[in-house]
Amino acid sequence: TLCRQLKQVILGDQVRAVTIYDTKIAYFPAMIGRHIKDVRRRGKGLEIDLSGPVVHLHLRMSGRLFWQPDFGLPPTHTRFTIDFAQGRLLCIDPRRFATLDLRHEYEAGKSSIPNLLAGIDLDPICLQAQRRRLPIKAFLLDQQVLPGMGNIYACEILFESSINPWRPTCDVTPEEWQKIITATADILKIAVTCRGTSISDWRDLFGQKGEYQHRLKVYGHAGETCPRCHGQIERQKLSGRGTYYCPSCQT
Ligand SMILES: [Zn+2]
Repeated sequence: TLCRQLKQVILGDQVRAVTIYDTKIAYFPAMIGRHIKDVRRRGKGLEIDLSGPVVHLHLRMSGRLFWQPDFGLPPTHTRFTIDFAQGRLLCIDPRRFATLDLRHEYEAGKSSIPNLLAGIDLDPICLQAQRRRLPIKAFLLDQQVLPGMGNIYACEILFESSINPWRPTCDVTPEEWQKIITATADILKIAVTCRGTSISDWRDLFGQKGEYQHRLKVYGHAGETCPRCHGQIERQKLSGRGTYYCPSCQT
């Protein structure tokens, strides 16, 4: 995924220059001369650790990162560039939703999806879930609960767990939570190997479409036959998001 690719190209490198092309984005002289200590996912954004200050980057809906090894002319809609010895990182964002900000210490706290994979701690999530009546899919998409969870993943996870997306969260049993966590781990592992999903405009760092979309079982398959029970996959809106599921085997 983006985070892993970014690590491959900039980890350990020194920031030579930062150029800002958008007045909405602040300029941070503190970045210059620092070395990239780590790149982490945090919620839907990225944290670039500069051994002290941490840059928080959110690409939002339309922002993309590109790697330019030849220091060529930045394309239109370039919002900022960060130069390293080996090349230049560009953020291109036609709609100017992407944000960049600098914080001086790492705020530890909420677990991200990769952390969930490392040491899955179900108890706090189950405890919260027992008190919530909202549909389970809306709960999964709550960024306070699972930072980084996206709509495509939520559809696929609930399909793998055979749970109807509209089921009240408090009715999901501990056994079913175990299924959800297992499915989440499996799906994210596949997604990481395939370099992310690339439906709806998302492309990875090297400008290629991810391959995970070919493995999606329900998302984008409305009207097709369910791969598990041969029922028909449906699409409906849930909290404003397109929700794909099989009404026959997701109960
Ligand atoms: Zn089915």
